[in-house]
Amino acid sequence: MVTNTISEAYVWELLAQVNDPEVPVLSVLDLGIVRAVTVSLTANENAPQVTVTITPTYTGCPATDLIAMNIRLGLLQAGIPKVNIQTVLSPAWTTDWITPEGAAKLKAYGIAPPVGKSLDNAYLEDITVPCPRCGSNDTQLLSAFGSTACKALYQCSDCKEPFDYFKCH
Ligand SMILES: [Zn+2]
Repeated sequence: MVTNTISEAYVWELLAQVNDPEVPVLSVLDLGIVRAVTVSLTANENAPQVTVTITPTYTGCPATDLIAMNIRLGLLQAGIPKVNIQTVLSPAWTTDWITPEGAAKLKAYGIAPPVGKSLDNAYLEDITVPCPRCGSNDTQLLSAFGSTACKALYQCSDCKEPFDYFKCH
């Protein structure tokens, strides 16, 4: 009956170890997509049911299914067999939900975190994206679509390094 002692706090700890398949340095908590965790146990069940409620990032992003699978696997490996993933579409996820820790991890990984807020609706041409490697503001947009549709490709004019920018959304 060891499994009966799962706390919601423990599930949150496990989720901090579940990474985004697209940007593996980010956990699902860094991304801000986990809305709620509930643990329930009914009398005739011998293992608690864990429900994780997530809001997908970009609609149609193939990563969403992978994220749900990673969460399921992560909890399963920790001995939690009954995992229910619920998806909540409203309010829609925006890059504003990425935590400050998540933004710092992105930068350390060489990806420029989102500049400004999603509601600004700024065109890529109108914003300055600092180089994540050298910090220079002298960068130029190479392509509105980088390694994935969620990112844009930039190049730094100072250190000459190309880098992905995680687009505001
Ligand atoms: Zn640079």
